[in-house]
Order: sequence, then structure tokens, then C-alpha cells
Amino acid sequence: MPYPAGHLIFFVLLLFPVAIYGFAKAFRKGKIQRSDWWYFLVLFATGSFFSLFPDISAVFNMILYGSRGDHCSIGSVPTHSFVFAGIAFIGGIIPGMVLYRQWNKALAVGVFALASSFLHLILDDMDKGVITYLYPLYNEPFSLYPFMTSTLSQTGILYYIITSIFGVLLFVLVVMMSFLSLRYLGFGLRYDPFKAEP
Ligand SMILES: [Zn+2]
Repeated sequence: MPYPAGHLIFFVLLLFPVAIYGFAKAFRKGKIQRSDWWYFLVLFATGSFFSLFPDISAVFNMILYGSRGDHCSIGSVPTHSFVFAGIAFIGGIIPGMVLYRQWNKALAVGVFALASSFLHLILDDMDKGVITYLYPLYNEPFSLYPFMTSTLSQTGILYYIITSIFGVLLFVLVVMMSFLSLRYLGFGLRYDPFKAEP
């Protein structure tokens, strides 16, 4: 998915709607103070930035070589890899620490930033991007979503089913990483315990 807007839209629709919903609900009830907007906006900015972070290679390539080049790597270093996306974890902890001044909360912001970067890799992978997931351990790109680009007759039914299930579980894992970290930071759906009528 080469367009930044596409990544941002998927970030807002898949990873951030819970926070928007919870925040809007609290706002409607008049529970939001001015300082709460900072938490909301910093989380939104952090997630947005790291949902685009692997494409920072395009910016570097423009500066270094004058053209966007292959947007998946800077020179020979792939930015679309788990290790590079892992920088998002540290990159999320820093604003988290400034904002919350608590390690646990800062770590949750790190997990949220990491989920945003992983979502980028998954979306690019589905769009036939060159994803060298295991760099520097394994330098060949491969797809975790081969069923998106090949047919059942090409792969065989067992391979097709296994990769489909694995791919969907990975996607769910990323969404859950975001959902749980946001909930830990207070941006979740609220649960009201059921009370039976007396
Ligand atoms: Zn990309």
C-alpha cells in the first residue's frame, strides 16, 4: 500500500476506533478536561506516525538519492522488517514517558506504537510489498499472506487454509495489541456489569 493516506485510514479505522468511541462517549457526558485532550492527541499522533514509520525509507531515499526509490529499504537496509518496526516500540515509550511519567503506561504506548508499525507491514504485504520480515536473520523477502496473491489450485488446499488462518490470527493479534494497550491507558470501551432486576 504505497499511499500514506491509505495507511492512515486503516490505522484510524482498525486500531484507533475504540479510543475515539470511548473518548467521544466521555466527552458527551462532560467528563473530558482540557488535559485529557493532550493524552488523546499525543496517542493519535504517535499511532499515526508509527503507522507510516516503515516508509521513512522513502524520505531518506529522497534526501540521499534524490528519488523515492524502492520504498521498502534505505539502500540495502530493509525498513519493512520486524527489527526496524521494533524501533517503534522505543519510539512509543519516549512520548509515553513524557506524558504519563510511569513505566507501565509508557510501555503500553510502546506496544501501541509497535502495533501501528506492524499494521503497516501487514498492509504492504497484502499489497504485494517486498517485506523482509526477518532481516537481518534472513535477508529474503517473503509474504505472510500468499493466499492473497495466489489461487487455491496453485498452493493446495492445506497450505491455503493454514496460511489463511495464520494470516488472520496475525491480523487479530495486531488489533488486540492496540486495543489492550489503549484500554490500559484509559481509552477503551467501558463495561457496565449486568444487574438483574430485583
Ligand atoms: Zn510501506
